[in-house]
Amino acid sequence: MSAQIIDGKAISVKLLDSIKSRISERIAAGKRAPCLAVVLIGVDPASAIYVRNKRLACEKVGVTSISHDLPASTTEAELLVLIDQLNADITVDGILVQSPLPTHIDEDRLIEHMDVNKDVDGFHPYNIGRLAIRQPALRSCTPFGVIKMLEASNIDPMGLDAVIVGVSNHVGRPMALELMLAGATITSCHRHTKNLEENVKHADLVVAAAGKAGLIKGEWIKPGAIVIDIGINRLDDGSLSGDVEFATAKERAGFITPVPGGVGPMTVAILMENTLLALELNEAKN
Ligand code: NAD
Repeated sequence: MSAQIIDGKAISVKLLDSIKSRISERIAAGKRAPCLAVVLIGVDPASAIYVRNKRLACEKVGVTSISHDLPASTTEAELLVLIDQLNADITVDGILVQSPLPTHIDEDRLIEHMDVNKDVDGFHPYNIGRLAIRQPALRSCTPFGVIKMLEASNIDPMGLDAVIVGVSNHVGRPMALELMLAGATITSCHRHTKNLEENVKHADLVVAAAGKAGLIKGEWIKPGAIVIDIGINRLDDGSLSGDVEFATAKERAGFITPVPGGVGPMTVAILMENTLLALELNEAKN
């Protein structure tokens, strides 16, 4: 048996098209386009690529993007002043600060400083809390992107035994909350989990978000299981790989996402969706 490949690129293109139409309808009705402020600190090459892709997505769908490219020497106080200005600016709907941040900046403090209705990454404790109590507002882009991918593939997580590998604040934890909201029975695994293999072997749905190439062995996958690989790992030869041994897992799984071309493009599409939602929240407030 060979798994059906979930084509995240194709699903994201459809989602971006629908966002573009919704924005065009707003403009035709005399309303303004959503506006995203993108803050990049320093010159990390990977961050620069991520930010470029996000700005390109803005252009594609008609979101106005404002760039704040700051030197690596920017202090936390200077950054918080910029966030204050963006919070107060009623023409800015979403604020994105690309991670990783320089080590002298406290990421938690930065996130908590942001207007919760402009937190298009969905990282603020308020937005994570809303998801936890089943009243989602702005949802973390990657986990919500996974939910949209499952929906587009006609996969309903209700009642499935789901194993999430990774419990980070930005990915693994909100992923577990999303799947709980969708009605799955969830098990969260992490670096201290005693028997990862046993957990994965029993899963109907495996979501890998550990950032360790080849961590999930193909032979662990239950026949017919759904495998979502969030991991992005740069191998020695320069190529990208997920956390799952793709070639062997594909022979056992029912559905599987590739890396690249799986979850990655969905993350950017959800950022656009969140920016449009943030504009609606902004309009309701002002
Ligand atoms: P992180 O380092 O913050 O968290 C990794 C998690 O994996 C931790 O909870 C840790 O306990 C767990 N882990 C590590 N080694 C493990 C092991 N041997 N067994 C079980 N669990 C283990 O990373 P993150 O920010 O959550 O990102 C995870 C991966 O997802 C990375 O590869 C990152 O590049 C990728 N990512 C992809 C997208 C996307 O759009 N596709 C978005 C964000 C992150």
